[in-house]
Amino acid sequence: MAQYVAKIIILGAGPAGYTAAIYAARAGLNPCLISGFDEGGQLAMTTSIENFPGFPLAVSGIELMGKMKQQALNMGTTIISDKISEVDFDCRPFVLISENGNCFNTESLIIATGASAKWLDFEAHKKYIGKGLSTCAACDGFFYKNKTVAVIGGGNSAAEEALYLTNFASKVILVHRRDTLRADQILQERLLKNPKIEILFSSVVHDILGEQNVHGLKIKNVVTDELKTVEVSGVFLAIGHTPNTAVFKKYLSLDEDGYIITAPNSCETNIKGVFAAGDVKDKAYQQAVIAAGSGAMAAIEAGRYLSSL
Ligand code: NAP
Repeated sequence: MAQYVAKIIILGAGPAGYTAAIYAARAGLNPCLISGFDEGGQLAMTTSIENFPGFPLAVSGIELMGKMKQQALNMGTTIISDKISEVDFDCRPFVLISENGNCFNTESLIIATGASAKWLDFEAHKKYIGKGLSTCAACDGFFYKNKTVAVIGGGNSAAEEALYLTNFASKVILVHRRDTLRADQILQERLLKNPKIEILFSSVVHDILGEQNVHGLKIKNVVTDELKTVEVSGVFLAIGHTPNTAVFKKYLSLDEDGYIITAPNSCETNIKGVFAAGDVKDKAYQQAVIAAGSGAMAAIEAGRYLSSL
């Protein structure tokens, strides 16, 4: 077990975490960023980002996150690949214990642990994870060359996943529980224009079919209660996210969905010296550029807090 002592620790290696690190490092606070084991967060799974300013020809999530990481390193951030499994916010400095058995002491903390993709409500579907069921088209889409796949959801993620999968699959069936999509207009237009995409509105997954691997879906129309079977080789879930806050719930005020509550126009949590940034505190926008902005805010506020000690 190694012991680390820092003025400021940042948890999370997405746009919020890296931006907080860049700002904290430039302020001379020698930040230590604990990246978790999935560096880059949700963005690392995104193939093409068209709405992050500064990249007029779009940028892949891996490239954008790689650049942010490099910038954080160049400024002097220490990055440690580990994941925090236990915290004690009653003592000062705060104590963090990691899955690798390390102990971190820090005077201030920025939580930028993001949110993870949701799975379906029925437990039985989990046996298909890695056997045709996925939450990441960018990771697994390649395996479905010339096959039919389904995407579940009606938001921006579902639309982007469906469009991306048309690069490989012969057909993509988008299954959405309502009769209108939540995705941005521009994405809706692209979906409707794409001949490989069929949209099943007012429809939910009733069951996943297949002995070992996914072979099909039983789909229920929620208006007529009609059940129908569609043959698909892969199912991609894009039904929203759950914030990664379980480790902090003993100490931090969370809303009914588990997102960290911060003071208005601020990244301050209910514990002095603990700040939250990015998707872990934001269920309204969940945009990379907003996460980056809130990472900057959190680092500035943490700097002010440290100066006040
Ligand atoms: P989201 O906007 O919350 O959409 C989730 C979708 O899944 C909704 O259509 C929802 O249906 C459906 N859904 C939720 N639970 C379900 C269930 N149990 N069974 C079936 N369907 C279910 O999530 P998201 O698409 O992951 O996007 C999250 C945030 O990231 C949003 O703010 C989004 O704008 C942003 N984002 C932006 C971009 C971009 O700008 N390029 C790309 C990706 C994500 P209802 O519509 O009925 O609620």
